[in-house]
Amino acid sequence: MKTANKTVTAERLVRDALKKAEFFKDYNIFTFLNEEGALKRAREIDARIAKGENVGRLAGVPYALKDNFLSPAGDTTAAAHILEGFSSPVTATAVRKLESEGAIMIGRVNMDAFAHGSSTENSYFGPTLNAYDKERVAGGSSGGSAVAVALDIVEFATGTDTGGSIRQPASFNGVYGFKPTYGCISRYGVVAMASSLDCVGFFTKSPEDMDLLMSITAGQDVNDLTTLPDYYDSAAATDAPTRIGVIKDFDNESVDKEIREALKNKCELLKAKGYEIVELEMPSLKYALPAYYIIQPAEVASNLSRYDGIRYGFRSEKSEHLDDLYRNTRNEGFMPENKRRIMIGNFVLSSGFYDAYFLKAAKARTLICKEYDKAFSKVDYILMPVAPNPAFKLGEKVNDPVSMYLEDVMSVSLNLAGVPGLAIPAGKTASGLPIGLQLVGPRRSDKNLIAFSKELEIDDAIEEEENV
Ligand code: GLN
Repeated sequence: MKTANKTVTAERLVRDALKKAEFFKDYNIFTFLNEEGALKRAREIDARIAKGENVGRLAGVPYALKDNFLSPAGDTTAAAHILEGFSSPVTATAVRKLESEGAIMIGRVNMDAFAHGSSTENSYFGPTLNAYDKERVAGGSSGGSAVAVALDIVEFATGTDTGGSIRQPASFNGVYGFKPTYGCISRYGVVAMASSLDCVGFFTKSPEDMDLLMSITAGQDVNDLTTLPDYYDSAAATDAPTRIGVIKDFDNESVDKEIREALKNKCELLKAKGYEIVELEMPSLKYALPAYYIIQPAEVASNLSRYDGIRYGFRSEKSEHLDDLYRNTRNEGFMPENKRRIMIGNFVLSSGFYDAYFLKAAKARTLICKEYDKAFSKVDYILMPVAPNPAFKLGEKVNDPVSMYLEDVMSVSLNLAGVPGLAIPAGKTASGLPIGLQLVGPRRSDKNLIAFSKELEIDDAIEEEENV
């Protein structure tokens, strides 16, 4: 990561990033550009560097902030109309930690409203375009973050991952995207989607950068009682990994042929390096998607009930009575996908249906957790696709919620089990679209998992050499 020093100033780095943001304007990446604020901070940092002060490990590094992180810089809208005009007095713990190391936020980036979606098409600001093909989606919900890094506007971007929202857009845009172990990074100051699944993570161009950001932001936080006691940097060195699992059920026709091929290639590479590839049967994973689409909307319904037009952001002007005000504000302020989830969530939690849906899904979740634990008694890590396909066309799935939900079939089980997953770039399709694979590890294996991902990098270098 390029940091500022006496010759390359923070102001230079920030100006370059802002210039690129302007150049790539038509990708619709930013919901807010922090021009004034970022330049002011850059000058302060340069003054400190000039005095010989140690500014931190991210001195002057420009970054993009997913629009569901609270900070007083710009409105925090989560790309939803209902939060328009909401300026937060609070700064998210992750943001505070990044900035205390000298990072500079150059703008807030686009996402599916309230992080509901897999394409960034559910945004109030319109879709972000894929970095490799402007007719295709960026992935989602953290589409803006992925494209900002892929187009090299910023060194890194923040993201949140409730069911794949970091890993899937990372894989659609050829960058690294990490969803840590649940509870590794504080969720304090992040707009809640589904609290038992939400994780804060990052988009970077290398595993080394990911490790640095993790080591800065991981850790217990008194403001988030679900954070785990500090472990990221102190994780005990384990025996060198020897066995890598692949999931048998994911090798089928519903997964794009080129993605299956990429997985095979990486397995061959690992075999050539002496790793044993172990085929895993994980039958409970077929319940992951249905369980996720019950548990997640249930938590969404609870979390979104706070948006009533009284406390935050937008308020409908049309209302004569208080009930009208709630109803009209929610009707005008939420996107259709937000409403769908609130309705499903309230349905599965309602007294007549709780046992049939929510309770069953909670039991399936326990099965999935146990299945991962069993798998990790046999293998060190699991390698699998992030999504069944590379980036799809804009508009292709917007009117078909179920086909959009099916995008998440390989990503949601990690959130249900709380295990970490790193999306890694794994080549391109014949038509030039990035392919992503995810490396999955046991809970708290985050640091070693990121380090291990370097084993998978090498063949890209060889491929490039061969192509020369
Ligand atoms: N695509 C998934 C969903 O729409 C995941 C979203 C997320 O991780 N925020 O629920």
